[in-house]
Amino acid sequence: MHIFQKAADLRSHLKTILRERRSNAIGFIPTMGALHEGHLALIRAAQADGCYTVCSIFVNPTQFNDLSDLDKYPRTPEKDAALLAKVGCDVIFMPEVEEIYPPGAIPDFEIDFEGLDEVMEGLFRPGHFKGVAQVVKRLLDLVDPGQLYMGQKDFQQVAIVRHLIRVTGFPVQLVVVPTVREADGLAMSSRNVRLSPEGRRLGSVIYQTLVAAQSKAMNGTLPGEISREAMTALSDAGFEPEYFEIVNSETLQPVQTMLEAPQVVACVAAWLEGVRLIDNMTLK
Ligand code: AMP
Repeated sequence: MHIFQKAADLRSHLKTILRERRSNAIGFIPTMGALHEGHLALIRAAQADGCYTVCSIFVNPTQFNDLSDLDKYPRTPEKDAALLAKVGCDVIFMPEVEEIYPPGAIPDFEIDFEGLDEVMEGLFRPGHFKGVAQVVKRLLDLVDPGQLYMGQKDFQQVAIVRHLIRVTGFPVQLVVVPTVREADGLAMSSRNVRLSPEGRRLGSVIYQTLVAAQSKAMNGTLPGEISREAMTALSDAGFEPEYFEIVNSETLQPVQTMLEAPQVVACVAAWLEGVRLIDNMTLK
């Protein structure tokens, strides 16, 4: 496994790999580290597609609207490298902030997300998706992968990145990997390590709320009613829920009935013990 900190070294290595036809495609897995089985599922998906796997570990400051969240974000580089070596990842790219954003060298990147950034995470984390788009664009330019692997766990992020790829015409295929969960249903997340053992147990209520939403939707309860009940259930369990939205998977706009969109997804964000957790589930 190769580890690069400099973009120029990464680029020349990848050029050699492609020139020598040691692989047909570069599969790229961008992460912020503190890796868990959810991240490893993305690596394995890229490997299963026959890709040369490049995983980046970069805690991108521009996507944090809350500086204390950035400070507290877990960083475990040695453990991450050991996990990636164990699953047979080919390359880790671990740049410093200056490597991704050399002062003055990166033009400001603005994109019209046509409303995808104005709901849910976009409402509660102003500027978050601008930062996500900025770093994904920058990393795509550096790595130039044939395939990009992202998790369904960050459903709105996937919609934003899909839009980014469409608008920029970047020649990459986006592959979305299902959410990996703990045995009790809690979606794996780097932030889960900040929960107490009690919080960790309680965390699975988010999953239970999503499962309940799914069965209510199948039984004909209207989305608005399902959302209200889910918000109450989360508050009663000790969470501070920010939103529980039932949305059209394409536009991310809330639906009034389940018939309104071909695919409908429930998306939730809630605080527990000062940790912000998000999850989602396809209802239809
Ligand atoms: P992060 O390090 O949180 O920025 O996540 C890096 C990538 O891993 C993103 O594409 C996430 O959607 C994905 N990811 C994070 N957690 C999970 C999970 N539990 N299951 C599947 N993918 C995940």
